[in-house]
Amino acid sequence: MPDSENLLRTRERIVELKKEVERGTVLKGDLWVCEDGLGALYQAKSAGFCFGVQRAVDTVLGLIQSGVAPIYTYGPIIHNEIVVKDLEEKGVSVIYTQGELEQLKEGTVVIRSHGVGREVYCLMEANGLHIVDATCPFVRKIHRIVEEKGKAGYEVVIIGSASHPEVEGIKGWCVGEATVVETLQEAASFTPKTDKPLCIVSQTTFNLKKFHNFVEIIRKLSYHDVAVLNTICNATEERQTEARSIARLADTMFVIGGKHSSNTQKLYEICRKECEDTFFVQAFDDLNLRLVPFRGIVGISAGASTPNILIEEVSNLCRKKILRIL
Ligand code: SF4
Repeated sequence: MPDSENLLRTRERIVELKKEVERGTVLKGDLWVCEDGLGALYQAKSAGFCFGVQRAVDTVLGLIQSGVAPIYTYGPIIHNEIVVKDLEEKGVSVIYTQGELEQLKEGTVVIRSHGVGREVYCLMEANGLHIVDATCPFVRKIHRIVEEKGKAGYEVVIIGSASHPEVEGIKGWCVGEATVVETLQEAASFTPKTDKPLCIVSQTTFNLKKFHNFVEIIRKLSYHDVAVLNTICNATEERQTEARSIARLADTMFVIGGKHSSNTQKLYEICRKECEDTFFVQAFDDLNLRLVPFRGIVGISAGASTPNILIEEVSNLCRKKILRIL
């Protein structure tokens, strides 16, 4: 296609993007457009910390400021090495195992947004530790549901990943038997352990479509009453929908976040399907500027545990490169 035609197409796509952002149905983030209308940068509104993670990080920062010491978090407060290292330098230590927690006899321990089971609270109390609970309220709600339903005579099924700390925490609030279902195969081979009615809940970050699918399979298999409570948090769904929508229009896409963050990995996969030039950025130094084609529409998205400062660094660089406005 001749260059002039390409430019015309880019201009038209940017006009389309502008309209999309004005409508604000899916693309609700920030948009910068070049004066000549041939370059644009879109930064996803959902990029970065979700409500629960922000709340947990703010809790720890608040404790540091108040001069409390020593401070521990039970597990890394978020899946981001930069943030965890920074907090370590400010005197916050991470406790990785229940064994380590059992040895701890003094200090303040922050429970992160994933939450923990009842027995962990009991252990901390027995050891005389000061507990600061930063469990996300959406996760806490699931704890209450499974506890209440268990007491009311239900058998609980958790749809999610058995090894995920959030699911371990939810299991820790179940009264009686509970089963975790993670795969299609597990759903298909599910057998109730009792003849009680079932209560099905979900890990907050589980895929909505898969959740409905698994519920239907379990419903068909089980002769018991089934109470279904969709406990999926829409922060993940919103982030993925926004990332997919901008990646579809973008010429270059940046997905920012830590390599151990599964939600950032998932975002990268979603964007890569829509936009071939999708780049995973863990740290600002990862950006190999010679390889990145800064042209046309550039999109930015980031995982739930990506600090704002990193998103801003990448965003500033893009604005310098594409828009030459900084
Ligand atoms: S993803 Fe949702 S449930 Fe999980 S911490 Fe964030 S806001 Fe809370």
